Amino acid sequence: MIESHESPKCPVCQARFRESSTCSRCGADLVPLIRLIAGAYRLRLEARQALQTGDYEQARKLASEAQVLCSTPKGKDLRLLSSWLLLNKSLELQHLLGDEAMPA
Ligand SMILES: [Zn+2]
Repeated sequence: MIESHESPKCPVCQARFRESSTCSRCGADLVPLIRLIAGAYRLRLEARQALQTGDYEQARKLASEAQVLCSTPKGKDLRLLSSWLLLNKSLELQHLLGDEAMPA
């Protein structure tokens, strides 16, 4: 399912579309685009699940793949969050190992 506030646009004429396989304005075939959006959506879903299990590295990978397929502002946030959590986790590890292990 496509999130309601994210309105994808026809790549040909930029008309917004929702749940139709052809563009209502220019008649372009939107199926390949819809597949990309659905693929990205699924990847982000998996990324969120990875975040919940604390697998930030996997989350960042999935979120990045989703952005390559179909970039959205929300997807960008998800990728940023995953990157930040991953960075935070590694900094925390360095802290646990002692401040001397931190690079200057
Ligand atoms: Zn169109």
